[in-house]
Amino acid sequence: MTTIGVLDLQGATIEHIQQLEGLGVDALLVKKPEQLQQIDGLIIPGGESTAIGKMMKRYDFIEPIQQFASLGKPIFGTCAGLVLLAKDLGGAEDSHLNLMDISVQRNGFGRQRDSFEIDLSIKGIDQPVPAVFIRAPYIESVGNNVDVLATHDDKIVAAKQNNLLVSSFHPELTDDRHFLQLFINMVESKLQSQ
Ligand code: GLN
Repeated sequence: MTTIGVLDLQGATIEHIQQLEGLGVDALLVKKPEQLQQIDGLIIPGGESTAIGKMMKRYDFIEPIQQFASLGKPIFGTCAGLVLLAKDLGGAEDSHLNLMDISVQRNGFGRQRDSFEIDLSIKGIDQPVPAVFIRAPYIESVGNNVDVLATHDDKIVAAKQNNLLVSSFHPELTDDRHFLQLFINMVESKLQSQ
């Protein structure tokens, strides 16, 4: 059985757990680094990236998650999770995972509208997907090996780099399961390749 963990330091976790279980995946709240050994993929949820980053450091999560990624195990970061996976936070030095070749503009959509919902076209999904943005970041630039999956207002809002998937929006806050299914497919194909 495929097991996907949701990092449970701060932020919205329960909706992810419910959606994973609804798609027939075993879901685990990850509160300690040792639990990473029990899971095949990890979701880093939305919340407050500065707070999650500080807690990751305090509870010694940074290196274990970097090792998890270096084994090719998939990680999905939504919103604050996207910020934490990025290599470049617009020059800020806050604690983060420094894994994905993207440069992020935190709260990039914040000043225009604090939160909004749109129908978004996403590469690899054959119908528009409802996407909820809440004080969302966007991706300002990507490295050559990053696949851009979606843009909104000319800003990158979803991307993939090997085993890393990120979205500015919150797929767990709608009933649409397509984007989460993309991640589950990544986790299952990694398991099959072992
Ligand atoms: N603006 C928040 C941050 O950068 C993210 C908001 C969210 O996760 N909904 O931490």
